Amino acid sequence: MGRVYNFSAGPAVLPESVLREAAEEMLDYKGTGMSVMEMSHRSKAFDDIIKTAEADLRDLMNIPDNYKVLFLQGGASQQFAAIPMNLMKNKVADYIITGQWAKKAYQEASKYGKVNAIASSEDKTFSYIPDCSDLPISEDADYVYICENNTIYGTKYKTLPNTKGKTLVADVSSCFLSEPIDVTKYGVIYGGVQKNVGPAGVVIAIIREDLITDDVLEGTPTMLKYKTQADNDSLYNTPPCYGIYICGKVFKWLKSMGGLAAMKEKNEAKAKILYDFLDESKLFKGTVRKEDRSLMNVPFVTGNDELDAKFIKEAKAAGFENLKGHRSVGGMRASIYNAMPQEGVEKLVEFMKKFEAENA
Ligand SMILES: *Cc1c(COP(=O)(O)O)cnc(C)c1O
Repeated sequence: MGRVYNFSAGPAVLPESVLREAAEEMLDYKGTGMSVMEMSHRSKAFDDIIKTAEADLRDLMNIPDNYKVLFLQGGASQQFAAIPMNLMKNKVADYIITGQWAKKAYQEASKYGKVNAIASSEDKTFSYIPDCSDLPISEDADYVYICENNTIYGTKYKTLPNTKGKTLVADVSSCFLSEPIDVTKYGVIYGGVQKNVGPAGVVIAIIREDLITDDVLEGTPTMLKYKTQADNDSLYNTPPCYGIYICGKVFKWLKSMGGLAAMKEKNEAKAKILYDFLDESKLFKGTVRKEDRSLMNVPFVTGNDELDAKFIKEAKAAGFENLKGHRSVGGMRASIYNAMPQEGVEKLVEFMKKFEAENA
């Protein structure tokens, strides 16, 4: 069987050329006579891999020199604790609740200080991004937290919240490297790479240097202290070597595609094909307020659970995998990350049109 069109929300589709290269290098990485999986993280070969990966990421995102790039483990979920542990000096933080991931981060942070939910879109099943232009930011807030792209619900901030001068912390797991961003607007940008960048097991955190200090909450584990990782260039202990190696290849691939501005254009064109169809379809409809639609995760429904199930089953048989919506919301979701070719979205829409005609 050949490769399918994989619409998984994560772990998700990776560029085929990256997988082929990795396959070619599997047994003998560049004349070392071993796989990257088998080599010391202190070796010259791996040192080149991690340094090149960081340099390419800095280049792609235009990351200023006063930001550190960390390659970490523990998933995005571990950062839900690491962020308050490292950033809470006043033990106060403001969270904007736009979905399950933001809510989990909020709940975890609540263990460490006074955490305020200053806005939420839970009243409408997280189908929109609240107006964040003039929120009641706490005077002594150590930071304001957002989940920038809501993987489960398919919403994305089109403008960042007005934090009234407070440090912005953003979980970008599902929109990482999907478009250019202005890094200087953030104190911490982090994400699990298994959505749009690489294999599960790596978290990338981009942190402004003044936020990396010894002044962390009492009891913060050595491994969760950003300064430990920053002082050791992500090599305090064994990093997720193979995952970092694949991320590095994806960074090269992104550069070869023209960088993040070019990716944004491609992603907009891809998403438009699907959203335009959803807007004209009599059977399928999108679930998100139009102005808040994500370019990466596109949820939709027929309005009939049985028909949804039939669609998912027939789509799978036709080679469109992982279109089932998140277990908490049902319906369908097509995740169309960087590595999903436009052809995959075109074929999906063709299939949806056919299904609509057959089930009208
Ligand atoms: C998937 C996801 C997470 C959780 O990631 P893990 O690496 O599994 O902990 C957190 N935030 C967002 C936005 C996600 O999409």
